[in-house]
Amino acid sequence: MKEIVIATENKGKIAEFKQLLKGWEVRSLLDYPQIPEIIENGETFAENAAIKAETLANHLNCIVIADDSGLEVDALQGRPGVYSARYAGDSKSDEANLRKVLAELVDVPAEDRSARFICVMAVSRPNEQTLFYEGTCEGIIAQEAIGSNGFGYDPIFYVPKHEKTMAELSPEEKNNLSHRANAINKLLTYEHVWNV
Ligand code: IMP
Repeated sequence: MKEIVIATENKGKIAEFKQLLKGWEVRSLLDYPQIPEIIENGETFAENAAIKAETLANHLNCIVIADDSGLEVDALQGRPGVYSARYAGDSKSDEANLRKVLAELVDVPAEDRSARFICVMAVSRPNEQTLFYEGTCEGIIAQEAIGSNGFGYDPIFYVPKHEKTMAELSPEEKNNLSHRANAINKLLTYEHVWNV
C-alpha cells in the first residue's frame, strides 16, 4: 500500500484523512515523535499549512500534505479564524473554544449566526513549489452544543442541509460535505500526488 504523510497530530483530522484517503497508508506526526514541535506563526491558513507541510517534507524528504483549518463566524468579523485551535487559550480545549464562541454570540439572533469552516491544504515536496487547495463548508452557529461525533467546533456548527449539527452527522455524512473533504477532492485531481 502506498504511504502518504499528513503533517498533523490532531486525532480528529487524522481519522478523517484515513477515511478520505482510502487505499493509502496514512501517516501523521504521531508516527514521527522525533520531529520537533512545528511553530504555526503564520497569519493565514495557507501560511500555516505551508509551514507544516514544508517543515515535515524537508525532515522526511518525501511528499507531505498539511491541513490548516478553522471556523469563521461572520458576526465575529471572521474570528476565531486562524486562531481556532487556541481561541480560548493555549490549552487548545475544544470545549472551552466552543463555549467562548457561544458566549460571544449570546445576543445574536439565528439569522445573523452564519459561519463557515475553511480548510487550506498544502502539498509540499522537497525542492518543489508548494501547492494549495481550499475547501469551505457553510453553516450556522447553533444556540447550544449538540452531538458527540467529530471534533473541535462540530457540536455548535449547524448544517442546514441535514438539519443537524456537524457533531450529529455520521463520519460518512461529514466526509460528504466538509471543508476538509472539499479541499482533498480538489487535491486528488492533482495527478502528481499519485505518482509518488
Ligand atoms: P489547526 O490544527 O491549527 O489547523 O487548527 C484547526 C482548529 O480548527 C481545530 O483545533 C478546530 O478547533 C477547528 N477545526 C478545524 N476543522 C474542524 C472540523 O472539521 N470540525 C470542527 N472544528 C474544526
